[in-house]
Amino acid sequence: MRCIFCLESDRPAYSVEHIIPESFGNTEHVLPRGVVCDPCNNYLARKVEKPLLDSIHFMNLRGRNVVSNKRGMVPLQYGFCPGARTAVGVQFSSTEGLSIGAWSEADDKPFVKYVLGSSKGSVLVPLEGPIDERVLARFLGKIGYEIAFIYLTKVGRTS
Ligand SMILES: [Zn+2]
Repeated sequence: MRCIFCLESDRPAYSVEHIIPESFGNTEHVLPRGVVCDPCNNYLARKVEKPLLDSIHFMNLRGRNVVSNKRGMVPLQYGFCPGARTAVGVQFSSTEGLSIGAWSEADDKPFVKYVLGSSKGSVLVPLEGPIDERVLARFLGKIGYEIAFIYLTKVGRTS
C-alpha cells in the first residue's frame, strides 16, 4: 500500500495513524497500519499535532477536562497568580488532587515566598488562549484529508 501523504510504498508503515490525536482522548478513530508510513506519521505528530497540543488554549482545555496523554499524564494548565505576579501551572490528578506551582524555575522563588506569606490568594486560569491559525489550519486539514480518504476508499470504515 502507498502512504496517502508521500505516496511512497517502500517506507516502513507499522503504526496506526490517529485521525484525532490520542492526547485528545481518541482511541477509536484511526487509519489502519500501512495507510500512513512511519516517517509521515512521525512528521504529523511532531509538526502538525504537537504545536497545537502544546498551545496554552489546548493544554488548558485538556487539563480542565482531565484528558490524559498516551503516557497517562494530564497536562498542566497555564495560569497566573496576581499576588505573586508569577505564571503558575495548575494540574488536577484523580489520585493527587489539585496542585499548583510556579510555571518556570525563575518564578519558583517569588511564588513560594508569596504562598508562605499569605493566608489567602487567587490563581487565574484562562479558559481560552491564543491559537495560531496556521497551526490550526494544518491540523484540521490533516483530519479532513484522512476522513476524506476513509470515505473515498472505505478503508477503516465500519459501516
Ligand atoms: Zn509517507
